[in-house]
Amino acid sequence: MSECVFCRIVAGAAPAHRVYEDDTVCAFLDIRPITRGHTLVIPRNHATDLSELDAETGAELFRAGHRIARAVQGPAFAADGANLLINDGRAAFQTVGHVHLHVLPRKHGDKFRFASGLVLRRSREPDRVAAAIRAGLAGLDTAAETDTDTG
Ligand code: 5GP
Ligand code: ZN
Repeated sequence: MSECVFCRIVAGAAPAHRVYEDDTVCAFLDIRPITRGHTLVIPRNHATDLSELDAETGAELFRAGHRIARAVQGPAFAADGANLLINDGRAAFQTVGHVHLHVLPRKHGDKFRFASGLVLRRSREPDRVAAAIRAGLAGLDTAAETDTDTG
């Protein structure tokens, strides 16, 4: 079994609160969230950093991060914005050597909560938080179907 904690999550050998997965990427809650709903999107196949990631997989990583950012701004989660970020390389504070895109839901006026989150990194009610993000993603699918139905 891989030494890489994120490969172990992909394989189901380590626990995580998963919110989304497909053939290329997997997304789950950060174990030490900076903001409520802080999510990591990773390629299923191991790539240590962006130099090892092919461009198509990088595009899929962003596609999923884009959807999650939209999902958390829907009624199920009710964020007002999001930060999307990759720390690429140890010089950029990458601590886990498996590429990951951070999606950080934000609320208007959350500057001080964000700052304390950076220090405390405390996970609260992860089951409920993950369920709300999954509901937000399902809401995007429903909206897309409605658009198709109404032409
Ligand atoms: P980095 O600094 O490498 O961009 O961020 C790594 C992130 O991975 C951190 O925010 C950290 O909390 C998160 N992390 C580290 N180990 C685990 C783990 O075992 N499970 C989950 N869900 N997140 C992890
Ligand atoms: Zn890995």
